[in-house]
Amino acid sequence: MTDSIKRQSIDSDRFDPDFVDRVVDAGADRIKTCIQCGTCSSVCPSGRRTAFRTRELMRKAILGLKDEVLSSPDLWLCSTCLTCLERCPRQIKVTDAIIIMRNMAVQEGYMLPQHKKVSQKLLDTGHAVPLDDANQEMRKELGLDEVPETVHSHRKALKDVQKLMDITGFKKLIERQGREE
Ligand code: SF4
Ligand code: SF4
Repeated sequence: MTDSIKRQSIDSDRFDPDFVDRVVDAGADRIKTCIQCGTCSSVCPSGRRTAFRTRELMRKAILGLKDEVLSSPDLWLCSTCLTCLERCPRQIKVTDAIIIMRNMAVQEGYMLPQHKKVSQKLLDTGHAVPLDDANQEMRKELGLDEVPETVHSHRKALKDVQKLMDITGFKKLIERQGREE
């Protein structure tokens, strides 16, 4: 005799019924029409090399599994190539939905350590890429000025960059994530 099938259920406190509406309001207006056809997953170049499944992400978002979606590193595996958006039979702006959820994730404190480091570098120096000896050497080999015409050569502009980051709220956002050493 075969074992009986066990009924599985998800704790109700894992659902946020308003989550998908916030994603819709932010611009992914057709997301609720998803028919789970899986076309997005099948054309996704990131999914070919990782465990990332676009269809699954869409399903979880529609179900309202907010924390699961926002805390998942999978959210960051999309390369925003737009292929799924072009192929979705429901014309759902899949890539936009992912970007919207990324923004929500950062607002809620879920930021990848690598992104924190780059953001802090931008905040501290005005640049995401440090100008180290190797970079300067490479620039010289390419016939470029060793120090580019940016905040690196205009140190006073750093204050302006930091002011902009302050006004736009970017600084507060990064500081809220805590420093990444
Ligand atoms: S391609 Fe569109 S309809 Fe199909 S699963 Fe992906 S988001 Fe849903
Ligand atoms: S936009 Fe992102 S989710 Fe869509 S196919 Fe490209 S990598 Fe995959």
